[in-house]
Amino acid sequence: MLDFVVIFTKGGVVLWHSNASGSSFASCINSLIRGVILEERNTEAKYFEEDHLAVQFKLDNELDLVYAAIFQKVIKLNYLDGFLADMQTAFKEKYGDIRLGDDYDFDREYRRVLSAAEEASAKQVKAPKAMRSYNESQKSKKTVASMIQDDKKPVEKRVNIQESPPPAKSQPSSPATGSSKDDIIMENRRKLREKLTPTKKTSPSDSKPSKPASEKAGKKPRVWDLGGNSKDAVMLDRSKDTPEDVQYQNINSELVGTMQGVIRDLDVESEAEAENEEESSEEEQEEQVQVSKKSKRGGLLSYFKGIVGAKTMSLADLQPALEKMRDHLISKNVATEIAAKLCDSVATSLDGKQMGTFDSIASQVKEALTQSLVRILSPKRRIDIIRDALESKRNGRPYTIIFCGVNGVGKSTNLAKICFWLIENDFNVLIAACDTFRAGAVEQLRTHTRHLNALHPAAKHDGRTMVQLYEKGYGKDAAGIAMEAIKFAHDTRVDVVLVDTAGRMQDNEPLMRSLSKLIKVNNPDLVLFVGEALVGNEAVDQLVKFNQSLADYSSNENPHIIDGIVLTKFDTIDDKVGAAISMTYITGQPIVFVGTGQTYADLKAINVNAVVNSLMK
Ligand code: GDP
Repeated sequence: MLDFVVIFTKGGVVLWHSNASGSSFASCINSLIRGVILEERNTEAKYFEEDHLAVQFKLDNELDLVYAAIFQKVIKLNYLDGFLADMQTAFKEKYGDIRLGDDYDFDREYRRVLSAAEEASAKQVKAPKAMRSYNESQKSKKTVASMIQDDKKPVEKRVNIQESPPPAKSQPSSPATGSSKDDIIMENRRKLREKLTPTKKTSPSDSKPSKPASEKAGKKPRVWDLGGNSKDAVMLDRSKDTPEDVQYQNINSELVGTMQGVIRDLDVESEAEAENEEESSEEEQEEQVQVSKKSKRGGLLSYFKGIVGAKTMSLADLQPALEKMRDHLISKNVATEIAAKLCDSVATSLDGKQMGTFDSIASQVKEALTQSLVRILSPKRRIDIIRDALESKRNGRPYTIIFCGVNGVGKSTNLAKICFWLIENDFNVLIAACDTFRAGAVEQLRTHTRHLNALHPAAKHDGRTMVQLYEKGYGKDAAGIAMEAIKFAHDTRVDVVLVDTAGRMQDNEPLMRSLSKLIKVNNPDLVLFVGEALVGNEAVDQLVKFNQSLADYSSNENPHIIDGIVLTKFDTIDDKVGAAISMTYITGQPIVFVGTGQTYADLKAINVNAVVNSLMK
């Protein structure tokens, strides 16, 4: 899936480009021209990356032209070499000679060359691997003894659920075991992650100790502390879902009913706010100045303390400080590769500058880093769910969001929070229960539906039921259920459909194929990836592989990949905010919501300043 194709002279004059929205790729093309073409560096590789974008290019030394194709770097396009060569041939055939200032109308040829290249590439895509039958699987070869040993194995395999119909009752229902290649890879990954994550803070699925088989059967009852007041706490017990046990009248709706319209920003006081607090006393102001000075001198910036003097800075002077800065970023859960890139950008902006005092260096580092971080975190596209849902409503069709991600990251919980937010904005919602595998998944959504309707009874909304659940139980085809749900929503004029899907590991090919199918056949308005803020390098692996699988298995000319991110459990990470950076860097897509707790109101918008300040600490 190409974002932009351009033909320009080596001097940077654009002769032709593929679409009008080229301005968003201008910075990437300019960097390519400045950093590679003009300096004649790395032109052999014919590949260049900036942020989430990649450029593959071809040089025509005879006419001094560059043919460049820009795409999301998480996507692998295997036809680009041939495509660019064919572009060159077609362009030369049509124009032969180049005169600057001429008009180059190449649209028709471009479309022809592109569809030929895509068709040829589609033919090469291998047929999907047939799924193993149960008898062929490792699982069927397990003895009772091997299953007992399995309790000592990493939990990761256990959460790697299968979306194929659940085994018949007579078959063993314990998770796959044995030393299959997958197991070894999982175990090695876990070890590697432990090594790379100094804080030892890994996702709950990584770190939970093995539990006895009896405890694994279903989820334990969960306490939802609405607003933190234990008196108002409501038990959401997915395993025993008895309506009489739930005292709706105990819910203090004020605690959860304040979120309307735009989603509130994460509440983290920025430095500027602290400095500008008007009502604070003189003493408090003095204290704030001290705190502000401390934060400027401490944390990440303190590594640059030794670099003072009158001479100009060189990379050698900066190296020790940059290494500490990289470790600091990694300790905040920024993925290793991205931490290194951030350090490179700071190095580039400091190299050759005057050293000066510590304060001047500190503010230069801060400025350079802030610029890079803000660039990464600022959305390349705006996602305005309320506006788009209203537009869909006007057009008489439901607005559809599909939620995906690995197991236990908070998909269902945050789907319920988003549902609450939509109801507060007067949309009625249909939740499609498409996690047809995990025991308790449907009941969990049913419980949320009841609670949300209790908080927003039909009587308050002109007799409209604000949330309904569309479910077909377990073991059925998830894509089919989503399709029926969307049709039902269309026929009964429901405003928004939220599709919950089964959690899946990013390496599980059959499950990634079925997610890709679910998205392809249902053509949602938005695909949201739900990921935990707790993860470091793992976040990159998950996102790259989810995106790549959605692109590879879609068989669509324009596959629908991830549009945005829901970053959950932000309340549990203290100042280790790196996952926000890694995830946006990898996809170039915005963090649409941040989950900050276990009440329906714990849903916020990302606050770029807060994230940047936390990283500096
Ligand atoms: P799923 O398997 O991805 O659907 O995950 P669930 O929605 O079942 O959530 C898994 C666990 O994470 C539950 O115990 C949730 O209460 C918890 N959880 C979800 N979102 C958040 C959040 O933003 N903060 C905290 N602290 N916990 C959360």
